[in-house]
Amino acid sequence: MTARDGVADLDDARERLVSFGLNASHHQVPLAGSMDRILAVAIDADRDLPPFNRSAMDGIAIRASEFKPGVRFRILRTVAAGDPPGELPPPGCGVRIATGAAVPEGLDTVVKRELLTVVVGGDVEIVETRATEAPPWRAIHRRGLDARAGESLVPAGCRVDPSIIALAATTGHSRLSVRTRPRCVILTTGDELSEVDDPLEGDRNRYRIRDGNGPMLAATLQDLGAEIVRVARVSDDLLDTRSSIERSLDEADLCITVGGVSAGDLDFVPTAASDLGLHRDGDGVGVQPGRPFSWWTRGDALRVAGLPGNPVSALVCAHLFIRPWLDASLGLDPRRAWSMRRLGSVTTPNPGRIACRPSRFETDAEGRPLATVASWNGSGDLVHLAGTHGIARLPRQTGDLEAGTPVPTLAWSPTFASDPELEGCG
Ligand code: AMP
Ligand code: MG
Repeated sequence: MTARDGVADLDDARERLVSFGLNASHHQVPLAGSMDRILAVAIDADRDLPPFNRSAMDGIAIRASEFKPGVRFRILRTVAAGDPPGELPPPGCGVRIATGAAVPEGLDTVVKRELLTVVVGGDVEIVETRATEAPPWRAIHRRGLDARAGESLVPAGCRVDPSIIALAATTGHSRLSVRTRPRCVILTTGDELSEVDDPLEGDRNRYRIRDGNGPMLAATLQDLGAEIVRVARVSDDLLDTRSSIERSLDEADLCITVGGVSAGDLDFVPTAASDLGLHRDGDGVGVQPGRPFSWWTRGDALRVAGLPGNPVSALVCAHLFIRPWLDASLGLDPRRAWSMRRLGSVTTPNPGRIACRPSRFETDAEGRPLATVASWNGSGDLVHLAGTHGIARLPRQTGDLEAGTPVPTLAWSPTFASDPELEGCG
C-alpha cells in the first residue's frame, strides 16, 4: 500500500477494504420482511401487466367506430372489477363497466359515467353520451402496456422499497431472494461511557458521557445493509477488550470497535487484537477526521475494524471504510454511492490531509447540486452534525476552495436521491 507519513492513502485503504468483501450469498425472505434488502434475483412478470384490457374509468365500454357526439347505446349488462368480460355485445350495444374491470374483446373505448345521460332505465338501459370524442383506447389501460409476461421488472442489486414490494406481490412473489447481510458486532469502548437513560448526577457521574456512538453506528450500518448482531460497551481494560473482541469474532463476520484505537495509555484495541493473533493490516489513514482508523485480518478475512471514538470521526470512518466492505459483500459497486456537487460557500481544506466534512446537500437557483460544509467545533460536535446529509471530500490543499468548486460527495443514507449522471465519482 502507498504510505504517506506512515499511514495508508485514503483510496488505497478503501480499495483494500473492498478486497475483503465476503462472497455475496443469498437466501429467501418473506415479502413482508424484505423492505430495504438488496435483491439477489430479478423480479419477473408472471403475466402481462395489466393482464387484460382494463377499464380506467367507471362508464360504458363501446366500439370507438360507432361513436358520434349525441349517439345512443343499448347497455346490455354490467362488468364489475374481477368479472369475466363476457361476449362481445352486438353492434349499437355496449356494457356498463367499472374501473379495473376487463373490457370485452372487440370493444375499444370507454366513455366515463359523468358524460352519460340515461334515456331509458331498467335492466337494459339506453344511454346518450355527452362526450365530444371517444378515440380508440380512451380510458383503457391496455393489456401488456406496462410489461410483458416474462419481462424482468426489477433487476438484482436493487434495494427493496414499498413500490417493489407491491410489484412483487402483484406478480405472485410471496418470497424474495435477497443478499445475505454481513453480520457485525459493535463494541463501544471507554470507561467514561454510560447508558442513554443513566442519570449523570453526583461527583462520580458528572464527568461521564452517554454512549451516542453505539446507537448511531447500529442505525447507520443497518441502513447500509449490515445485520447488527450485538451492540455492547467495553471498559478500558485489556482483558475485557480482548474477551469482548474474541466473543464477537465467533458471533459475527466483523467486529467493529469504537474508540480505544489511538496511542493513549487506555487504548487497548490494538494490543487486544494482537494478543488474539490478528494481523494489523492497516494502521491509520491519511484523512481528516479518521487518522487512527485501523483494521485487522485473519487469513484473507477482515475481522476487526477500529473506528475512532469521536462521534463525527466514527460516523465518517464508518462511511469511508466499512461501507465499501459492506457494499462489496452485498454485491454492490462501492463507487456508485458517490456523486459530484459544487461547494455552496468558500471552504477551507486541510493542507496536510484529505478532509471529509459533514455537509448539507442542497441545490442552487439553477437546480445544480450543492454541498455546503457545516460549521463544526471538531469531531466531537454532534450538534452541528445533525441536519447534514453526508460528506464532502476536500482535496489536501493550502488556501481556500472557491464556492462552486466541484467535489465528490457521499450521502449518509443510501436512499438519498442523487443525480444518476453524476454517480460513481468516488
Ligand atoms: P478514544 O478514541 O477512545 O480516545 O475516544 C475519543 C473521544 O471520543 C473521547 O473524548 C471519548 O470520550 C469520545 N467517545 C468515545 N466513545 C464514544 C461514544 N461511544 N459516544 C460518544 N463519545 C465517545
Ligand atoms: Mg477511549
